[in-house]
Amino acid sequence: MNTLVMKFGGTSVGNADAIRHVARIVHAAQADWPQVVVVVSAMGGVTDMLLKGAHTAAEGDGETFRVLAGELRGKHYDTLNNLAKDLSSPVRWDEVRVWIASLVDEFETLCHAVYVLGEASARALDAISSLGERMSIQLVAPYLREAGIPAEPIEATELIVTDKNFQSANPISELTRSRTQARLFPLLENGIVPVVTGFIGATALGVVTTLGRGGSDFSAALLGVALDAREVWIWTDVDGVMTADPRIVAAAKTLPEITFREISELAYYGAKVLHPKTIRPVVERDIALWVKNTFNPSNPGTRVVSDDTAPHGTIRAVTAIRGQTMLNVEGRGMLGVPGVAARTFSAVARTHTSVSLITQASSEQSICFIVPSRAGPLVMDALNDEFRRELEQQNIDRIWAMENVVIITVVGAGMRHTPGIAGQIFSSLGKDRINVVAIAQGSSECSVSMIVDAPDAEKAVREIHKLIEMREG
Ligand code: ASP
Ligand code: MG
Repeated sequence: MNTLVMKFGGTSVGNADAIRHVARIVHAAQADWPQVVVVVSAMGGVTDMLLKGAHTAAEGDGETFRVLAGELRGKHYDTLNNLAKDLSSPVRWDEVRVWIASLVDEFETLCHAVYVLGEASARALDAISSLGERMSIQLVAPYLREAGIPAEPIEATELIVTDKNFQSANPISELTRSRTQARLFPLLENGIVPVVTGFIGATALGVVTTLGRGGSDFSAALLGVALDAREVWIWTDVDGVMTADPRIVAAAKTLPEITFREISELAYYGAKVLHPKTIRPVVERDIALWVKNTFNPSNPGTRVVSDDTAPHGTIRAVTAIRGQTMLNVEGRGMLGVPGVAARTFSAVARTHTSVSLITQASSEQSICFIVPSRAGPLVMDALNDEFRRELEQQNIDRIWAMENVVIITVVGAGMRHTPGIAGQIFSSLGKDRINVVAIAQGSSECSVSMIVDAPDAEKAVREIHKLIEMREG
């Protein structure tokens, strides 16, 4: 099929100028694509505001959500008034104003209900947080229309059918496929661009759900699959997937291609890239997936490819994740004692903290792992509780934390079966006297991670990036 699905994120629809830009991009795409579907996020910051309203209301605060309602109305009206300036039809914009007003009213009503109940259920949070996308399509679709592009706003509650796992609902693919085709094909065949809410879906009975934070990318992928689209383009505010954060490394470049496995590693280590869940269905069906920059459309961006077709390379990208705490459970009495690791991680799991990296030396005298800093104290308490007896008997000598460390992750599918790469990485850090506190390599051999002190992090990223620059010559 000659269908293109394009998703625009929160910054890409963040103000009137950005929306004008979206119209130009859609217009340009129509020259090459007979059928274009647009998926939009809420305007930047709006989902956070909606959720803040819900959470404060649940805590008994009857004021904040009213203030937020005013801000939401202001933000959308300002954009609307600005957009209406270019265009001719005041009547249509009055209609939009009425839509926005009723959605903001819905926000106030729902938050008031939460306030009265004193609790926000997952279902209520979804109803409230879905409003951002429901508002943004009401700005984007009429603007496209006025700019000469036939377009229609569509709420994805009509398309994406999910289970009842509110806040992180799972799509039901067969139902989604049939509903999406039935609703969108007639529009597409008539040259109309559906402007669909990202992030949201509905249960089979029509109750609103959300696909999880950042879920609009997933929405675009689901629609791409449901429509047998040829390509899915994710428009964001950076030049695709880059070799490093350009704010740290001036020489960072856009990667023309990245493999599914590489991008998954990057996502796992907290880089702001597509979630693996989003990518898998698309890549598996050989639908081309691109990440592009709304504010620099002439840059082709990055194509995500399935692993088999990956070009052979070595190091592709390097990232730094700040704000981490390293915890160590240490003791000579641990040697050969089974169950210490299991008890350690059960204790961590009880705090609902996810562990991003683990190493254990083969002397078995210490286990070291990384958690986000905000969870550090909680995890520390849990470990002290769990091992109280061992600590008293000195089978465990100490449990200690090193705060404010950074995980540096180097990713590259081409590192597999290629000797010497870890050596290059560590000698480049050694030359610069950067101390590596701990190291881990996943058995996929697709990434190497190391822990460094926060003050060394940027230097480490720059040093490792030089290896990428060297390879490119
Ligand atoms: N608006 C939603 C969020 O902020 C979904 C998205 O933007 O992808 O999480
Ligand atoms: Mg996003």
